[in-house]
Amino acid sequence: MNIKAQNMLINEFSISESVIEISKAVEKDIREIIDNINTNAEYNQLKVIKAMQDNNLSDTHFAGTTGYGYDDRGREVLDSVYASVFKAEDALVRHQIVSGTHALALCLFGNLRPGDQLLSITGKPYDTLEEVIGIRGEGGGSLKEFGITYRQLELTNDNSIDYNALPDVITDKTKMVMIQRSRGYCWRPSIKIVDIEKAINIIKNINKDVIVMVDNCYGEFVEDREPTEAGADIVAGSLIKNPGGGLAPTGGYIAGKSLYVKKAAERLTTPGVGKKVGSSLGNNRLMFQGLFMAPHVVGESLKGAVFCAALMKMLGFETSPFTEEKRSDIIQAVKFGNPDSLIAFCQGIQKGSAVDSFVTPEPWDMPGYDSPVIMAAGAFIQGSSIELSADAPIKEPYIAYMQGGLVYEHVKLGVLIAIQNMMDRGIINL
Ligand SMILES: *Cc1c(COP(=O)(O)O)cnc(C)c1O
Repeated sequence: MNIKAQNMLINEFSISESVIEISKAVEKDIREIIDNINTNAEYNQLKVIKAMQDNNLSDTHFAGTTGYGYDDRGREVLDSVYASVFKAEDALVRHQIVSGTHALALCLFGNLRPGDQLLSITGKPYDTLEEVIGIRGEGGGSLKEFGITYRQLELTNDNSIDYNALPDVITDKTKMVMIQRSRGYCWRPSIKIVDIEKAINIIKNINKDVIVMVDNCYGEFVEDREPTEAGADIVAGSLIKNPGGGLAPTGGYIAGKSLYVKKAAERLTTPGVGKKVGSSLGNNRLMFQGLFMAPHVVGESLKGAVFCAALMKMLGFETSPFTEEKRSDIIQAVKFGNPDSLIAFCQGIQKGSAVDSFVTPEPWDMPGYDSPVIMAAGAFIQGSSIELSADAPIKEPYIAYMQGGLVYEHVKLGVLIAIQNMMDRGIINL
């Protein structure tokens, strides 16, 4: 950082010189990792641009439709561009998909039928999917209510997929296998594409007709391949995470084999109508432009995560992933060991935001959680977690999950303020 930025951090953002000195040392240490992130972002950027060129993207595709949205060329090209980027046969990208959970639920309800079994091979699925599957809640409208059974294979003690157990758990009833790429909000590593590929090879050898679905939330563009390039039949994610690039105002996507995407689309709209309707209103341009920005933005958030991991380590905190660890999602977990540090950190992240910097988040009893949760987010788009945010359940061992950041400089500022906040409260000494 130059002297002007340094002075501004000290004078306008009240960061101590000792914090600045440490952060300079950290930035020096992580140079090579940052280089690798830039290199990967460049490759993914080329992939996205080539997909747009191959599909003759033009500004006429940015015009919106209303009503049924018949012949919405922009919508069709958006699907094709996503299919190209994911090296998939087809895709469904819609602002009518309200969230990542919705996109995943469409894949499940669209492709599973009574008597089928869904098998998760990465342990417990993401919280919001528990009610979709029917593991938790009253079961109203869940897969369970429709007679679709569920089984789960835990990860091994070293947090890898239990490859050896796959032949035992995949039976005649198994219609779909689900893999969650991201750690979600768990203290476990993300599942790398090579590991997803290894599992898919084993599964397809047992039964080539089993549908492999990957929950790709938080994973897009972190590596140089997507799960569909490693044999996954269908993947889904949220547009207010990685692939929306911070610009898509809402939405979700599904990419994969034509038949499976079609069935998901028929669940989103209706049988017979499928992908052929759905007015884009004015959303196409931001969805294209967000995808265009996504590889770079994911790179920015990854650089911020690495900076955070390295700095927290220097201060004596354990992080997951650790600084040099290979990543397959954008989440950075930090273990604080006590509630005061955790709360001070999250409140500091909020203080560094461009939006709502003046509010102080407090832990609250959120519905669906068994302990109070603190959520720091100052986002341009509500709930967007490709923008810098940090959440933490207030329970042992007091872990904060930080993710996102549209620009590295903002993540850096947020982390510096968070550390300053901890210092001001006497939690750490520098
Ligand atoms: C965020 C997330 C989801 C759900 O997405 P929402 O948009 O919050 O509904 C599902 N799985 C994983 C791994 C996620 O990170």
